[in-house]
Amino acid sequence: MTLYPKFSKRIEFQKDGKKVIQEQKLLQTTNNLTLNVDRCTGCGICIEACPEEAIKWGPVGAVRRGAVDYAAPVEIDEVKCSYCGVCPVMCPFSALSLAVDGVERYTIIEKEGFPQYDQVSKIDDEKCIKCTLCEDICPRDAIKRDVPLYEGASKEGKERQLAIKSKTEFKVDMEKCTVCGLCGYLCPAITVKKKAFTAETGKAEAVKDPKTGLPWDETKCDACKVCVEVCPEECITVERTMESDKVEGKVEIDNDLCCTCTWCSRTCPTEAITVEKLFDGEIEFFPEKCPSGCSTCVEICPCNAIYLPTPPPAAQLKGKQEAKIAVNKDLCMFCGACVAACPGEDIIVLQRKSIRFKGTETDLFKKIEEKLFTKRTSKVKEDVQPGEVQVKMLGKA
Ligand code: SF4
Ligand code: SF4
Ligand code: SF4
Ligand code: SF4
Ligand code: SF4
Repeated sequence: MTLYPKFSKRIEFQKDGKKVIQEQKLLQTTNNLTLNVDRCTGCGICIEACPEEAIKWGPVGAVRRGAVDYAAPVEIDEVKCSYCGVCPVMCPFSALSLAVDGVERYTIIEKEGFPQYDQVSKIDDEKCIKCTLCEDICPRDAIKRDVPLYEGASKEGKERQLAIKSKTEFKVDMEKCTVCGLCGYLCPAITVKKKAFTAETGKAEAVKDPKTGLPWDETKCDACKVCVEVCPEECITVERTMESDKVEGKVEIDNDLCCTCTWCSRTCPTEAITVEKLFDGEIEFFPEKCPSGCSTCVEICPCNAIYLPTPPPAAQLKGKQEAKIAVNKDLCMFCGACVAACPGEDIIVLQRKSIRFKGTETDLFKKIEEKLFTKRTSKVKEDVQPGEVQVKMLGKA
């Protein structure tokens, strides 16, 4: 009876997504190949890269649209897999990882010199004005924006942070103040406390602050000047001076999550972002063949590059059929997920032409490149087993 290797597969729900973890237990080593289902787009690059043909497509469209939750966009055969590490290195969405005895490791790079993607996704801190545009527009949640809240926006009880360094000066002319209490009633930064009324003075007297007149808390003041406006005696002055004209904090790109779609670099108002696409190529849509009502590719595209065009006014159509689906080629990174998910045939034609990588091409990498550069199109999925996906190869580049 053979005790080793032993194989197993399990599903875990972790903070960063649902994981399918497969294991190969050897006598002295344990290898784990993990697929992050939530990150996997079903692009199929791993399928073409795997030297053991251990990976096949699952129901890409249904999984990515959220129609099924029991499957993954790709399925890996834990017994056929040699745990070589090629698929994690080739996955452009960081959906796969390989661990040897619990430590993430890629001997294919260390020992065999297998090349890696040469990813360039960066923000020039000098140019970045810490706005919110790139964070809002990124389809992969790859922008990490760590900018303190403007002081007026913080929650009660929480120490206020200063997005822009400033100094506020507040002064009440106590000669004029009648201790009416209106300012303190409207603003939590001002305390209007009256001393006990006595016949000795015959008037209301305030508990004073030697510096500001009335006690005032700078951390609670937004310099809105409502106190200045409301004071019937016009005895309050508020002055704010800025000590920095730049918003504090940092905006960065998480390269593991960035798929190089270039949405952010095209949108940044200060041209602070540089992104180079991992792939280049051609993509063409023939939407006149789309099955009625289908918008699978729009839903699954990880780059939000596919869209439903705004219909032109009827007068401009002149008998022509309006386009159902269109692609913005500038935002496509030629991943191929749409081709795999499309339920029709000959609707999307994709041809990758280059890969941005660093290192020397090994024989295995050249073979993978040849497969990835093969022109392909979508194929009707009805003649395959339920849950299986096929892509039609059209020829070499
Ligand atoms: Fe494979 Fe693409 Fe999924 Fe990565 S994202 S695991 S390459 S199908
Ligand atoms: Fe294929 Fe290697 Fe990935 Fe296993 S680790 S699925 S053999 S590419
Ligand atoms: Fe705004 Fe550009 Fe900075 Fe992003 S990188 S926060 S878009 S200025
Ligand atoms: Fe996000 Fe695309 Fe910019 Fe990467 S290139 S950070 S995925 S918007
Ligand atoms: Fe990928 Fe481009 Fe298709 Fe979007 S349009 S799924 S980026 S190949």
